[in-house]
Amino acid sequence: MGQLLAGAPLAAKIHDEVITLVTAMKKRYGRGPVFCVAQVGDSKEASLYVEFQKKIAAKLGIECIVRTLPEMVKQEEVIAEIHALNNDASINGIILQLPLPVHLNTARIQANIAPHKDVEGIHPENLGRIILKNAGFTPCTACAVMELLQQTGVAFSGKEAVIVGHSGIVGKPLALMLLDKLSTVTVCHIGTTQAGNLEKHVRSAEILVVAVGKPNLIKGEWIKPGAIVVDVGITCIGGKVAGDVEFEAAAKRAAFITPVPGGVGPVTVAILMRNVAQAARLQCSKEKQ
Ligand code: NAP
Repeated sequence: MGQLLAGAPLAAKIHDEVITLVTAMKKRYGRGPVFCVAQVGDSKEASLYVEFQKKIAAKLGIECIVRTLPEMVKQEEVIAEIHALNNDASINGIILQLPLPVHLNTARIQANIAPHKDVEGIHPENLGRIILKNAGFTPCTACAVMELLQQTGVAFSGKEAVIVGHSGIVGKPLALMLLDKLSTVTVCHIGTTQAGNLEKHVRSAEILVVAVGKPNLIKGEWIKPGAIVVDVGITCIGGKVAGDVEFEAAAKRAAFITPVPGGVGPVTVAILMRNVAQAARLQCSKEKQ
């Protein structure tokens, strides 16, 4: 049975770092970090996630403000709201709650967030900085996966790393981050599955990261003995949360495996809070100059 790579201990360590940052900031500048979640519509799932962020933020001394826009808001109105938040010196970080209704262009709205307030790391400038190895804010989930992998003590260089899923917030940035560590990176996606090649690639993975959102897509028997398995997938079925990997069978073969829930999720939120605290500290020190 592999070792469980739980998110809670790492999240707790990051929380401590954030509390130290926030305490120092309050002492030096007389105020703490504030971020705003821009939410369109009031879907129950999105609201639950926002409440969760608020709760963690409060625990760390960070203030979270929510701006809710009506479901049928126009694209220009959302962009105007983002510009207002960019220009509001009391707001240090901006989160655009996804998914947006289909009539809105998510990428165009995200590109309007000021890069220095882009605590989710999804602005084109911050994404581009990953290629240039010139760290800005990196997408929190990709960052969470890297930090969890580091917890195992793995030497990345030369390792066969397979990522399933190539989204802009997880698979693609992660591929670049693993490349920087000299892993040999393979990125699988729907085309890989349609060509019947997913199993072959997964079987070769010494580091396997799955970020798809399809429960049990990855069969336990495909896992290479001794592999490190990070399951990013989250799907709610009948009130329960499931990942993308057949956990029980995979855990028998893996050296390390993340649980779902309780793996990548808490670390992602902790990193988001660390980004808010760092954004706030940078903005305060610039204001003082
Ligand atoms: P996404 O944008 O929908 O991307 C899913 C990816 O999976 C796409 O690259 C897609 O390829 C690929 N894919 C779909 N079906 C596939 C199949 N049968 N075989 C191989 N690849 C397939 O999703 P995302 O935002 O990256 O999120 C992925 C999952 O992670 C979701 O379950 C999400 O809820 C979860 N998530 C968790 C956290 C966390 O903190 N734990 C954070 C973010 C996301 P094509 O685009 O080519 O179809």
